[in-house]
Amino acid sequence: MVTQAKLYSEQCRTYGQWINGKEIKAENLIERFAPESGKVVAQFAEGTKEDALLAIENAKETFEAGTWSRMPGAERAKILARWARLVEEESELLTRIEIEESGKIRRVAEGDIAGTVDLIVYASSLANQVSGQAYMDIGEGLNAFVVKEPAGVVGAIVPWNFPTIIFGQKVPLALAAGCSVVVKPSEFTSGTAVELARLAKKAGVPDGVLNVVTGYGVPVGQTISESADVDVVSFTGSTRTGQLIAQGQGTNFKKISLELGGKSAAIVFEDADFDAAIDGVLFSIFLHQGQVCCAGSRLLVHENIAEKFVHALKARAEALVTGPLDDAKTEVGPLVSPEHLKIVQGYVSSAIDDGAEVICGGKVTQQAAYPDAPAQTFLPTILNGITPAMPIFYNEVFGPVLTVTKFSTREEAVKLANDSNYGLAGSVWTENIQTAFYVAQRVRTGTIEINTCLEGKPQLPFGGYKASGLGREKGLTGLEEFTETKTIGLRV
Ligand code: NAD
Repeated sequence: MVTQAKLYSEQCRTYGQWINGKEIKAENLIERFAPESGKVVAQFAEGTKEDALLAIENAKETFEAGTWSRMPGAERAKILARWARLVEEESELLTRIEIEESGKIRRVAEGDIAGTVDLIVYASSLANQVSGQAYMDIGEGLNAFVVKEPAGVVGAIVPWNFPTIIFGQKVPLALAAGCSVVVKPSEFTSGTAVELARLAKKAGVPDGVLNVVTGYGVPVGQTISESADVDVVSFTGSTRTGQLIAQGQGTNFKKISLELGGKSAAIVFEDADFDAAIDGVLFSIFLHQGQVCCAGSRLLVHENIAEKFVHALKARAEALVTGPLDDAKTEVGPLVSPEHLKIVQGYVSSAIDDGAEVICGGKVTQQAAYPDAPAQTFLPTILNGITPAMPIFYNEVFGPVLTVTKFSTREEAVKLANDSNYGLAGSVWTENIQTAFYVAQRVRTGTIEINTCLEGKPQLPFGGYKASGLGREKGLTGLEEFTETKTIGLRV
């Protein structure tokens, strides 16, 4: 019998570049092999430096022409609201693309699209509210207006793990602010970016305001990030690429926001609601096979409950269901690529050499619906006995691998949590509000959640301390990343 999942993967979508409101066919194509089936599910235009420059030129022209940047906010708000509705109407197509290109299970892919709709709705609600301050008679007849202007052309560079929602964290707010945008999706997962741009045109976003150039980081991402005609670089990806982008700025003083890697701690105290903490810790590490920047990849657990907690986690992790991605019961899918699988395996085997105890997982298994595809599913893995002397305590694995470290006091828990170059997120599990706040105030991360985790809502700024990046996405702070502040003085 041909399953639904198989039917999906028998189609292959071909995408051109989306520049100035038109799809432009490319000479060379990048083939995307689906993580689940191993078959080619999409072909993306392999962008050149010239493609990126053309898109930037169009974005700059439309910005300067003012068709979008000076359009009344209320009009922009209406167009963004229409865009949100169109995206919602196309949810099934976008979900299927997410399943096939990034290897997400259906529930997570659906959540990604619904979250993107929410982000566009939120941006629409702000488009008519970009405002500043007025100062009247502040000295000898001086008055002043502090105004927010659209920052210009935004280069939005997006990774493969959440291609739609990360697009959604950047592009709608940039458009709400009045900017023009050039998006560079990941070479693994470019389909939804082109589809979203197509829908934006249908909603009324003028040609040239939202462009998508697919292709590799070099030359496309590099050209966008280094162009003097790009005023804001909004990058999400690895800390290594973020460093290259920061270095490549040379003497360009553009605005940069970098959303980079993480090694977040889930801190579980003795008095935590045991079942809620188990649910939260599992969700925060095994969502999308751990390929999540803010994954709770380090469990820090109080020594008095450590054994019982790890025992319960093992039972739950081993019960997670592998199966066809399109099946609502499936909880574990494949990693994004064979290369990424090797990286994850490498981290785990080095940790074992360093003395880690494998509680569960550590093995690769076949995708159930595709016995002939390359095996790419890494079973949920828990490594016990991890200390700060081991590299796995620090390195971002970006896979379904939870490390377990014990602590005895809240001071030690905070010290361990902060013992990281990263500072993206974290969670603390306790019934004691004093303990919760003690930790929340001292952990040096952009987000810390108490008795919950991974609650990304459009209103809540997201970003990192330290090597997890610069700047914030989402919320009012996220909107600010796409504006410049101008002071207009007036003496009367
Ligand atoms: P990556 O850095 O390899 O690629 C990200 C994007 O940058 C891709 O579109 C890629 O083509 C492009 N790129 C590559 N080289 C470039 C260059 N020299 N100049 C400009 N662009 C270039 O990251 P990835 O493997 O796609 O994603 C995984 C990483 O992303 C993980 O480290 C993860 O933690 C991080 N991430 C962070 C967040 C966050 O919000 N902090 C969210 C998701 C993922």
